[in-house]
Amino acid sequence: MSVAEAVKQKLKPQNLFINGRFEESVGNQKINVVNPATGEFLTTVPDANIADVDRAVAAARKSFEKKSWRGMDPSRKEKILWDLSALIDRNKEELSILESLENGKIVREAMGADVEPAIDSFRYYAGWVRKIYGETIPVDGNFLNYTLREPVGVVAGIVPWNYPLQIATWKLAPALAAGCSVVLKPSEMTPLTTLRLAELCMEAGIPEGVVNVVTGYGHSTGEALGRHMDVDKISFTGSVRTARALLKASSETNLKRVSLELGGKSPNIIFPDCNREAAINRAFWGIFANKGEICSAASRLLLHEDIHDEFLDAMVKKANQLKVGDPLDKGTGMGSQISQVQMDRILGYIESGKREGAKLLCGGERDTEASNAKGFFVKPTIFSEVKPEMKIAQEEIFGPVLSAIRFRTPEEAIAIANGTIYGLVSAVWTRDIQLAHRMAADIKAGSVWINTYNGFDTASPFGGYKQSGFGRDLGQYALEQYTNVKSVWVALG
Ligand code: NAD
Repeated sequence: MSVAEAVKQKLKPQNLFINGRFEESVGNQKINVVNPATGEFLTTVPDANIADVDRAVAAARKSFEKKSWRGMDPSRKEKILWDLSALIDRNKEELSILESLENGKIVREAMGADVEPAIDSFRYYAGWVRKIYGETIPVDGNFLNYTLREPVGVVAGIVPWNYPLQIATWKLAPALAAGCSVVLKPSEMTPLTTLRLAELCMEAGIPEGVVNVVTGYGHSTGEALGRHMDVDKISFTGSVRTARALLKASSETNLKRVSLELGGKSPNIIFPDCNREAAINRAFWGIFANKGEICSAASRLLLHEDIHDEFLDAMVKKANQLKVGDPLDKGTGMGSQISQVQMDRILGYIESGKREGAKLLCGGERDTEASNAKGFFVKPTIFSEVKPEMKIAQEEIFGPVLSAIRFRTPEEAIAIANGTIYGLVSAVWTRDIQLAHRMAADIKAGSVWINTYNGFDTASPFGGYKQSGFGRDLGQYALEQYTNVKSVWVALG
């Protein structure tokens, strides 16, 4: 039996993870989890209702007030997070297959971009446990003044479907390092790796109630978390629409802190003096990795007119060679979109590009070759002659669709780059070091890559400008989201 078959056979109907064990929902609503690449039913998860969310938040609160985790010796916490990292490592094959099955991404990407970052995140934040501390501050008068860095309390991590395990970990690992208790809510479409992660947390020795998982829809489970009076902080990754709902919920309830990692329409700017081969390769995977369902997708290719045609010829050649299909097959380059809804959305954008006069160079339709007809596959699509004001140059498509835009001068490139509501990431390709740094300073985005694309490291902060959100995941900066600073004054005389 293949490993994938074994993973599938092990899948039982899932429950909520509350207070260190799997518990049934008090309601009877179930959600089917389906493999988008084949249409195959995988299992069910509960749609947690308000009472379920109350139980999960109460478990997190109890563990927080009992100090079962935050009060533990730091060296022990550090060791547990290291052990958790090792446990994920030991189970990495199972986790990557599970991620591929529920998401439709190729298994190589599930391993490289979900499981490996999860392993590294717990290792990295284990190292922070003993390094989060306050300061003594010289103040006027006869006083000792010092600060304490305290965990913010009960954190809800609300996670999307495109990188389920990676993003759940980006929330969980720094929150645990800071001493918080956590309720995770994965996307209703991709809950399985997060539930498995919760089990591994227990196996590693994290006390009960510190990590909880509630599965369910956004309008039920998600909203219950957003409106909960006893959640101190929401760490959210997802769409701008949901971000607005969460800010509103916070403002109408307990003013819980909210941090937001949202969408993007990221510019990848190519000057003629770049390393052509590297730029083509990165531009290609910048948009077609994870079937384009990436917040940091290089979805706008800004090409200097001197290399425009030649660059696009090479991109189209690669796109025509990309094998689209079975995500579990090691030879596949691109898997299935997450759902029919997402596929239809992408196809709708392709139609809008054609209508607005962009030139379709390749792809542009659903892929129904052989067994691909059972899933939601879209051919890698490239448009040229895209104008900055077109819908396909302004809105996040979240699929394998590239919009190529011509430019002449650096100033024009900057104006186009900054001309959307988003500001998540960006890239500049040139050997001219002065130009590169000038561009890096002028682009309004949370990351600028120079002569590379999609550089990620657990140690380096990630997050947006403008409507791509605020707050940062990863690195030391993420810890600020999960801590409060307390100023203590002692009269010395
Ligand atoms: P989404 O906003 O629809 O859903 C994200 C999560 O929020 C899911 O768990 C969903 O169930 C929940 N949710 C939905 N409505 C809710 C509500 N009213 N209250 C509380 N929770 C609710 O987004 P999606 O479609 O799952 O993901 C795609 C979006 O995520 C894209 O816009 C993409 O750019 C963005 N994204 C951003 C990053 C980043 O780091 N910046 C990373 C990945 C994805």
